[in-house]
Amino acid sequence: MINFRYVRPTTRQACVTALVSDPTAQFIAGGTNLIDLMKRGVTAPEKVVDINALTLRSIDKQGSGIRIGALALNSAVADHPMIRQQQPLLTQALNAGASAQIRNMATMGGNMLQRTRCHYFYDTALPCNKREPGSGCGALEGFNRIHAIFGTSDRDPKTACIAVHPSDMCVALVALDATVLVTGPNGERRIPFVDFHRLPGNTPERDTNLERGELILAIDVPDNAFARHTHYLKVRDRNSYAFALVSVAAALDLSNSTIRDARLAMGGVAHKPWRLLDAEKALVGKPATEATFRQAADIAMQGAKAFEHNAFKIRMAPSSIVEALKTAARPA
Ligand code: SF4
Repeated sequence: MINFRYVRPTTRQACVTALVSDPTAQFIAGGTNLIDLMKRGVTAPEKVVDINALTLRSIDKQGSGIRIGALALNSAVADHPMIRQQQPLLTQALNAGASAQIRNMATMGGNMLQRTRCHYFYDTALPCNKREPGSGCGALEGFNRIHAIFGTSDRDPKTACIAVHPSDMCVALVALDATVLVTGPNGERRIPFVDFHRLPGNTPERDTNLERGELILAIDVPDNAFARHTHYLKVRDRNSYAFALVSVAAALDLSNSTIRDARLAMGGVAHKPWRLLDAEKALVGKPATEATFRQAADIAMQGAKAFEHNAFKIRMAPSSIVEALKTAARPA
């Protein structure tokens, strides 16, 4: 770990200014990922801008939804009565992530900005286009069991990346049509959650569409009619404190047993939380039966591509979609 300067500004503007004045500076909130990355030499900011003095921890009713401050802790959001009652999919996804200790430290904004857990990204002796652009992708011809099956970049070795986004929470938020409020050198703007994270394309070093110096202020989750029928299914190697091999966020609005509306997203399969819009459309107006769910899962898997060690995900993912939808459809 290199020496670094530590600053703790007390205003949003001062945080943004402190960041843009140093090209290596990084924000820190809970630090549950950044400190690991710094210790292992994956990232080496010369200045760390602590944003914990900002008042961004509230969870409030806001218009036709709930506004969650970027510094709200994962555990506080998961346990909040309004989230549990109105957005149970978010509670389920948050509680599936990490460990209780980490959820007590990790913030909403930090969860969104956590980096991939690709083994080659963390091993500085091995090539990784995300850590060191143009160096190659160790996972492409290496041990790629945990890697992506959708939206990969694998043609040009100098830009290839087949990593997955590790968050559970973000899979629920993309399914719930959340919006992200950010501020930065050019003022405030809103980013639909589905556009917040990126596919690797030719710039795998970029995980999100945030511009340099932009700071997440809040996440807005709109009201919906799904509270009675949601399920977050996480398939992993062990039952806790492990990242998803495949996860599914499923939400249904049922009228008797007919699907009025549906939301569906997957984790562990792409460089971003993977929303399944075509599969959602295929569910609407149909009976909530296993046959309907299987049809949607088939649609969801179109375009999937496996690498040497992760073909099992192409079998696991559709079964997980069906299982998540069946559980969501059960009477509340
Ligand atoms: Fe790096 Fe992405 Fe390749 Fe992993 S998959 S080694 S993060 S470029």
